[in-house]
Amino acid sequence: MSADGRRPLAVHEPAGYPCPFCALLRGEPMTAPRLEDVVAERERAVAFISPRWWARNTGHVLVVPRTHIENLYDVSSSDLHGVMDLVQEVARAMRATYGCSGVSTRQHNEPDGGQDVWHLHVHVFPRYPDDRLYETEPLDGFVSVEERAPFVQRLRSALDGAGEAHGSARGPLRPPVTAAE
Ligand SMILES: [Zn+2]
Repeated sequence: MSADGRRPLAVHEPAGYPCPFCALLRGEPMTAPRLEDVVAERERAVAFISPRWWARNTGHVLVVPRTHIENLYDVSSSDLHGVMDLVQEVARAMRATYGCSGVSTRQHNEPDGGQDVWHLHVHVFPRYPDDRLYETEPLDGFVSVEERAPFVQRLRSALDGAGEAHGSARGPLRPPVTAAE
């Protein structure tokens, strides 16, 4: 059931799905993404460096709602606003610190829409001249935490002072909320 009590329009999440984004929000140790990747925490949304990269658009960011909701069809207006407000913050910070000359967002729904994690997320990509983002596939596997770290530092420094304060020593994030609550 969605946050406003409607029946979800489309559900592809299997029973017992181990959501990697909710695991991150609970602070559970896992391969990726990890707490070290988080660049901003807001009331309704969290942003972190994606562990999966495109070769010419390294250090792209995922922004997710704290609420576990599968897709754009069923996300609440307040969660969607929280996500998009943070997407804007990240885009500005990325433009200011990455040396990119543009920023693009992508958001996928259902398998035929290219979705493969069943928790709504918005990709925020740095763009460069002739980077051909939409004609290229992501790299195989995940890049290392060490490779992700410089991008985390750039965005954290740019995002500090905006919204909630956060320190460099990372504890568990506030836990995710379920749509039923
Ligand atoms: Zn989730």
